[in-house]
Amino acid sequence: MAQGLHIGIAGAGVGGLAAGIALHLAGHRVEIFDQFDAPRPVGSGLVVQPVGQRVLDWLGCGAAARALGAPIRMLHGVEARTGAGTLAVRYDAAGVGLHGLGMHRAGLFEALHGRLVSLGARVVPSSQVMASSADRQGRWLQMADGRRFGPFDLVVDALGSHSPLSPLVSRVLPYGALWTTLEWPVTELPDDRLTQRYVAAHRMVGVLPIGRMPGESTQRAAFFWSLRHDAFAGWQAQGLNPWQAEMRDIWPALSPFIAQITDPAQMVLARYSHGTLRRPYADRLVHIGDSAHRASPQLGQGANMALLDALALARALDAAGPQDAPALYARMRRGHLMLYQAFSRFLTPQYQSDSRALAWFRDRIVAPIGRVPPFDRAMGAIASGLFIPPLGGEPYANGQPVPPGWAMDAPPAPMLQR
Ligand SMILES: Cc1cc2nc3c(=O)[nH]c(=O)nc-3n(C[C@H](O)[C@H](O)[C@H](O)COP(=O)(O)OP(=O)(O)OC[C@H]3O[C@@H](n4cnc5c(N)ncnc54)[C@H](O)[C@@H]3O)c2cc1C
Repeated sequence: MAQGLHIGIAGAGVGGLAAGIALHLAGHRVEIFDQFDAPRPVGSGLVVQPVGQRVLDWLGCGAAARALGAPIRMLHGVEARTGAGTLAVRYDAAGVGLHGLGMHRAGLFEALHGRLVSLGARVVPSSQVMASSADRQGRWLQMADGRRFGPFDLVVDALGSHSPLSPLVSRVLPYGALWTTLEWPVTELPDDRLTQRYVAAHRMVGVLPIGRMPGESTQRAAFFWSLRHDAFAGWQAQGLNPWQAEMRDIWPALSPFIAQITDPAQMVLARYSHGTLRRPYADRLVHIGDSAHRASPQLGQGANMALLDALALARALDAAGPQDAPALYARMRRGHLMLYQAFSRFLTPQYQSDSRALAWFRDRIVAPIGRVPPFDRAMGAIASGLFIPPLGGEPYANGQPVPPGWAMDAPPAPMLQR
């Protein structure tokens, strides 16, 4: 319905680039701003779940992403001391051929940014967004260096977890993780699963195959170690040796990965937080991705949520005018988002906390139940992002309801086929 709008997008991460592509394809004029000097990604590895892959296909960059990423068929974890099977989620339990896609952020960025540029759109670099304001002409973006851009019919806040435009105050979780990217070595570990070891819930170490970086042929792994924020200074002070010895003790097969860590500076501390905006929009302003909702990466859904938000926003604008589309977007995403935020709140402390009781509950109750039908299918569907329809039951285009199970069955929406 709304076409040819002038839309400003703040942030060129996962959500911002996806929104740029979707809105451009829908016939809008987009301008994307990011603080980086040249387009570049930040961070380590992540899993693009089946639902996120479907969005990438819709946007026209699924093949480019798959060419770089590593298929992940299973999420697997074992308690190191007791040998209890803690995590055994098979994607194909939820649907034949389903799998995650392990990627370095650089790979996902390359796939999205390459598609954006091929459409003739581009990112305006060196633009640190400081604030936004609205007047009768439209909404404006204020940069830290004094420049002001606008007026826009709509501004999309895709500035991530530290967005200065978002009113979201999230709860910082006590545990974060140290992350790094390594080469995939000669190893007995399978290269088609996320593999983890735990000691109760206060220790967790994991390895995720993430395929290739753009322009490289080397296969890579994302490597992470769960850590309380308040233990970081102690970890830095103790040096690498005791930490590496502890990891070898927990998981001897990790040695070829550990051998590549020779400097503490290789490990970057990621802080996690949890929170959701009840109303992810204001006057001609919409928040998507981490600026609208944050969770620990335990369920591996953050990038997928940002991709879904971008698609929902484009569809909402297709179905309603710029005044009503933000509220429609919020309604389309609410059910899926709230459910996954609840899953994350429930599961995260079972994997990252000081509670022995929660670890016991995880290993003795949750994991055994999750291995038997039909719960194995439910676990696969949860990981896939497909436990319920991700865009809800709202009309998205021309009054048509979203088909149930749209994510795997429905053909691409007409507006995104151009
Ligand atoms: C360690 C870790 C592991 C994760 N693992 C997974 C996983 O396995 N699967 C998954 O789906 N998700 C995962 N996530 C979450 C996922 O990365 C995020 O949810 C996702 O990137 C959010 O996308 P976004 O577009 O909202 O923000 P981002 O991708 O963070 O993009 C924000 C963009 O805004 C720019 N920016 C920020 N501030 C400003 C400013 N003031 N002015 C201009 N530009 C600015 C940044 O440069 C960046 O380009 C993980 C996150 C972390 C930290």
